[in-house]
This record gives sequence, C-alpha cells and structure tokens, in this order.
Amino acid sequence: MSCIFCQIISGKIPGEIVHQDDEVIAFRDINPRAPIHILIVPRKHLAALSDLTEEELSILGKMGGIAKKLAEREGISERGYRIVVNCGAEGGQVVPHLHMHLLGGRQLSDEMG
Ligand code: AMP
Repeated sequence: MSCIFCQIISGKIPGEIVHQDDEVIAFRDINPRAPIHILIVPRKHLAALSDLTEEELSILGKMGGIAKKLAEREGISERGYRIVVNCGAEGGQVVPHLHMHLLGGRQLSDEMG
C-alpha cells in the first residue's frame, strides 16, 4: 500500500484526524498553508476528480457537507473559507488520492492559480 492517504486511513501512519465516518475521513494537513488547513478524503482510493465515474461523483457532495460542518466547528464559517480540489499535474495535485482542502483562519489571497 504505497498511497500516503491510504496509510493514514488504515492507521499505518499517524494523522491528526478531525472527522471520520464510513465513507470519509478528515485530518489536518502536515504542511498547513493557513491557520486551518484540513484535508477531507474518501476512504476508498479514488485517484483524482477526473477519474470519478458518474456513480462515484456523489462523494464530492458528502465531502462538501463535511467541509461545511468542520468550518463551523473550527469557527471559520462566518468569516469565510476556501475549498480546493486539485486535479492532476497542472492542477497541482501531488497526492494521487482524491481530497478536498479546507483552508481558512486568515484572509486568503485572491489569486486562483
Ligand atoms: P495536493 O497538492 O492537492 O495533492 O495536496 C496534498 C496535500 O497533502 C499537501 O497539502 C500536503 O501538505 C499534504 N500531505 C502530504 N502528506 C501528508 C501527511 N502525511 N499528513 C497530512 N497531510 C499530508
């Protein structure tokens, strides 16, 4: 099992887990780019957004709902936050396991790329 996120999901390597359910896990990014930087990750190894089948796309709604709840719990819901899903090399995806970044706790740059 070479995927770093699969290893966190299975407990082989530690992660600062802030949410888990039967389909999705969320943990703090090891190299946070903002005071709040959480990764929301499906338990199933899905490589990237571009690989999702029609049936698999619904996981994004679940991940978005968890991001919303985590933002509320982390106290950044009113101030605002950003959700990012990098896809593929030019999209800046480094870890080839689908994930959603939840970023907040400071004024984020208006640059989108
Ligand atoms: P991306 O560039 O969208 O693929 O983002 C991958 C993210 O995973 C980066 O923000 C990394 O800092 C983060 N990351 C890599 N390894 C770990 C780890 N072991 N625990 C938590 N976050 C990690």
